[in-house]
Amino acid sequence: MSHLFPTYARWEIEPESASGSTIIDKNGNKYLDFTSGIGVCNLGHRPIHVEKAVHKQLNQYWHVSNLFQSDSQETAAKMLAQAAGLHRVFFANSGAEANEAAIKLARKATGRTKIITFINSFHGRTFATMSATGQDKIKHGFGPMLETFVYVPFHDIESVKAEMGNDVAAVMLEIVQGEGGIHVGSKEFLQGVQELCKQHGALFIIDEIQTGIGRTGKPFAFQHYDLDPDLVTSAKGLGNGFPIGAVIGKEKLTPYFGPGSHGSTFGGNPVSIAAAVATMETIFNTEFLDEVVDKSQFLFLLLRTHLKHLHIIQDIRGIGLMAGIECQIPVTTLLSELRKMGLIVLPAGEKVIRLLPPLTISKEDLEKSVIIIKHLLEKLYLSPNNKKMAIN
Ligand SMILES: *Cc1c(COP(=O)(O)O)cnc(C)c1O
Repeated sequence: MSHLFPTYARWEIEPESASGSTIIDKNGNKYLDFTSGIGVCNLGHRPIHVEKAVHKQLNQYWHVSNLFQSDSQETAAKMLAQAAGLHRVFFANSGAEANEAAIKLARKATGRTKIITFINSFHGRTFATMSATGQDKIKHGFGPMLETFVYVPFHDIESVKAEMGNDVAAVMLEIVQGEGGIHVGSKEFLQGVQELCKQHGALFIIDEIQTGIGRTGKPFAFQHYDLDPDLVTSAKGLGNGFPIGAVIGKEKLTPYFGPGSHGSTFGGNPVSIAAAVATMETIFNTEFLDEVVDKSQFLFLLLRTHLKHLHIIQDIRGIGLMAGIECQIPVTTLLSELRKMGLIVLPAGEKVIRLLPPLTISKEDLEKSVIIIKHLLEKLYLSPNNKKMAIN
């Protein structure tokens, strides 16, 4: 009998070791990992530069608390702030905690409580971030949510306008709705939201927990759209597997997060900070990010070339190395079949196959994975009629 609360529908695989884009399980089976630990291990498993930084810190000290001076936290904060074009950082341990901090800061700085978020968004599992999340299934059974969140359709600027007013503390959104199905925001919509925020003195919060740290080919996804957010949240890829979250904000917000206003015992833990600095040193680099863009173009070309004849596929979309393959059917069984074929991928919503390969993936492995998906879908869904057409 398991002593774990069954909060996760776990897969059948138990990893024994992992390196780069490969996981090897207890039975010696080898898998291509296109999940990166849910967008966490952006440099693959156990990248040497991060491993060395962590070892070095392990030999110095592990934890002393945030009551001490910390040069390495300053370094990590400076790297994040400069990469985002912002000024101040608070370190937490997870994405939800980073969003929690952003929500608290936005309420305190504006003296308002209403926050606009979007249908199908995902912001975390704490009470405030669950309240912010625009998906009913996540809130089921937990009673009244935190006041005062309102949810409007993504891409619908008129609905944002209708809810906007001088009582709004913030609008909070993902540039690409990750858990919600890989829905990429348009420039017009995102800039429109920002403009409404500016007009009404509301803060513009961008949740970059899944999209940040190079995932889309820029340090942060909002940088594709010429935006000027007040707060940006980061986590997942920031520590390449070590738990860390961050809220990054404008200088004007400094007075509202003074001594005693917010805190975390573990936030900015030295080992996680060492991992984050080494991760950012590698990723916040033009050459590295150019390669991500190049691999992204290669991946989307492969997906469109190899899968376009399959009627089961509704849409292929995404940005950088964050790709969604929307199918006409729920994908749970497909994912389990893909694992049997040596490829581990994620769902996003019910009908989308989500690919989040490490940013360090080789083109060869990108091609291998798309061919595996093609073979499975052809085996299952290509009717004899279509098969003839594909051969012609
Ligand atoms: C994963 C995720 C979160 C929550 O992060 P945790 O570390 O699981 O708390 C919040 N927002 C987005 C966009 C995410 O993808």
